[in-house]
Amino acid sequence: MYGKVFNIERYHYTDGTGIRILVFLKGCTLSCPWCSNPESQSPRNEMAFNANKCLKCGRCIPACPNGAISLKDGEIVTDRKLCTSCGACVDRCFYDARTLFGRDMTVDQVMTEVLKDKNYFVRSKGGVTFSGGEAALQPEFVRECIRRCRLEFIDTAIETAGAVPWEMLYRAAEHAGEILFDLKTLDDRRFKEFSSYPTAHILENLQKLCSAGKKVRIRCPIIPGVNKDQEFISQVIGIAKENHIRQIDLLPFHQLGSYKYRTIGREYTLGDLKTMNKEEVSDLEKLVRNAGLDCVVGG
Ligand code: SF4
Ligand code: SF4
Repeated sequence: MYGKVFNIERYHYTDGTGIRILVFLKGCTLSCPWCSNPESQSPRNEMAFNANKCLKCGRCIPACPNGAISLKDGEIVTDRKLCTSCGACVDRCFYDARTLFGRDMTVDQVMTEVLKDKNYFVRSKGGVTFSGGEAALQPEFVRECIRRCRLEFIDTAIETAGAVPWEMLYRAAEHAGEILFDLKTLDDRRFKEFSSYPTAHILENLQKLCSAGKKVRIRCPIIPGVNKDQEFISQVIGIAKENHIRQIDLLPFHQLGSYKYRTIGREYTLGDLKTMNKEEVSDLEKLVRNAGLDCVVGG
């Protein structure tokens, strides 16, 4: 069994308890314009080209079987219409200017990476978080990875936006120790801009997970002009209380992933939006805490 993974990151303190290793899976049903991992959204492999690292040596040009790379006016140019993300140019570049996002990994290969950090997990009560993209789009792979982690007594969490059929979500999440459930907006008109799922479906999935006895934590990216308001957070608090959820985390908007859009041939549309600091969501944090819920800001 293979899963399509685009990154594995170690030593995270967010996205679950203790020290975590994050396994990022490719493919998402949403296309949020503030996404800090735009390379996660497509389920297919994607070749990224970082012009800032390119020394224009030209080694990659003959490597491309499709003639997608050329030197024009002194600049290395990749024709995205010709590129099939085969990855041949990546190996030819000595300067890490080219990266292939998307690697078919077996459960054994993922577990080899996970087990390298087992001592950290034991000491910190940490573990593995399956993130994305949308982790539940590869339910059988995630489920099997979680089963193998449990055999090693390693804590597991999955991150989801809930915008998947319930059956897929439950297959992925059934044995996970915790589910980090992203809520981005409850305004259907707004949500339609980046999702084909209605918010009612998302909330139904959230309720079903809670009814099934799963430990769920809600996470809200806070985006000015989309959901940075007390009304939204008050609604989320109501949802948390109805479903006996104990924690709502707030993730203030940042632009850390903005440079990635250009490297995969996409435009970043939120360049005019200012990165927020933690103080800017302190009123929302207070609202959550005053409701008797735990709240972590940032991550
Ligand atoms: S990924 Fe493959 S097709 Fe795309 S530019 Fe590189 S060599 Fe050419
Ligand atoms: S091999 Fe790397 S450094 Fe050389 S031209 Fe290609 S992308 Fe640039």
